[in-house]
Amino acid sequence: MADWPPSSEETLRERAREYARTVDIDVDSDALTWEVSTRAKRRAGACLYDPETRAVTVRLAWRATQSFDWPTFARVIRHELIHAWEYREFGEAGHGPRFRERVDRLDVSTTCPTFTDARLLLDCTAPDCDWTADRHRASPAVTEPADRRCGRCGSRHEVLHVASGERWRTAAGYRGARERIPEW
Ligand SMILES: [Zn+2]
Ligand SMILES: [Zn+2]
Repeated sequence: MADWPPSSEETLRERAREYARTVDIDVDSDALTWEVSTRAKRRAGACLYDPETRAVTVRLAWRATQSFDWPTFARVIRHELIHAWEYREFGEAGHGPRFRERVDRLDVSTTCPTFTDARLLLDCTAPDCDWTADRHRASPAVTEPADRRCGRCGSRHEVLHVASGERWRTAAGYRGARERIPEW
């Protein structure tokens, strides 16, 4: 695809907005605010909601444009558009049944897309929270994540084993992943 990675934040915002118009989901992409974060290091996209004004913002990570090709980045945009649609229609968003119904049709991941060079990542499950933390060893936050909470918003977090893409939220999930991952 020409013009990728984008040359400026403005180009990225325009590109994302234009692409969003072509995605088959019932949300007016021009009514959304599109933001580029130059600080976000892990979460490729986030969808923010202000319950008072009902404004929805899609925030895209500039750094992800350097590590993702366009098809991968386009999936990030589609993922966040599902959250945007949920916030507009229902005032809340997550990765539950309503989200998963749209996963196949829009070919997106069921978790907020991340990019990192860490081995393990703690990743908040709330769509509007971009809290993550690197982990290198199997500490209790990794092996027993159900007992821990996001360091910012208090939601559950999940653990991502970056190389394999395995994710878990419980001690049992950790044990299963550990068995499936050939090279820990
Ligand atoms: Zn998400
Ligand atoms: Zn959080």
